[in-house]
Amino acid sequence: MSSVSQNLKSIKEQLPEYVTLVAVSKTQPNEMIMEAYEEGQRIFGENKVQELVDKQENLPKDIQWHMIGHLQRNKVKYIAPFVALIHGVDSLRLLRAINKEGARNERIIPCLLQMHIASEETKFGLDENELFELLESEEFRSFSNVEIHGLMGMATFTNDEEKVASEFRYLKKTFDLIGEKYFETNSAFSVLSMGMSGDYETAVAEGSNMVRIGSSIFGERNYR
Ligand SMILES: *Cc1c(COP(=O)(O)O)cnc(C)c1O
Repeated sequence: MSSVSQNLKSIKEQLPEYVTLVAVSKTQPNEMIMEAYEEGQRIFGENKVQELVDKQENLPKDIQWHMIGHLQRNKVKYIAPFVALIHGVDSLRLLRAINKEGARNERIIPCLLQMHIASEETKFGLDENELFELLESEEFRSFSNVEIHGLMGMATFTNDEEKVASEFRYLKKTFDLIGEKYFETNSAFSVLSMGMSGDYETAVAEGSNMVRIGSSIFGERNYR
């Protein structure tokens, strides 16, 4: 058995059944993705639009492609026809662009709102005020070609497990709160995307139901 299938198997054994695994395949060649595919994996995550489009064209059509990276408004059009879930929605302006491309493609595009939960400034996402402002806005409520499926966040990159846990706990608390307040009658709002190779066990313990795992499946990435 290849190491990719072995890694995938052992991660899936550890994850509770209700947790969706997004295999993060950024920078990895198509052959590696096919190894995971042959092991039954169908959900893959990428963070660059061009790479996502190339892979979607060349790999099996039953793969569900998740955009997990920072997305620029002018690039939404390239992924709008096929993307299964956009994890990193961090502004009303971006959501407006996705809604527009959703309409153009006659589809409703599933999105997650990204919250900034880490202490690093470099990470993207909405703070609590911005999140509520977006959800309260009339324009947001008028969008009919996007659907908010939940929240996404990235914890601080640190060995301090209690810090990571408390950031995830905060995201889970916000997820529950806005679920009750804004999405009570919308069962699509159900996804809490948190946890990567280094912290997914903590994330799951804190209530994650979608983890995004790259290097623990595919090994180290080759940035060219
Ligand atoms: C790269 C990336 C991951 C996966 O990271 P690993 O540490 O390799 O598991 C998860 N989420 C996002 C947003 C990423 O950019």
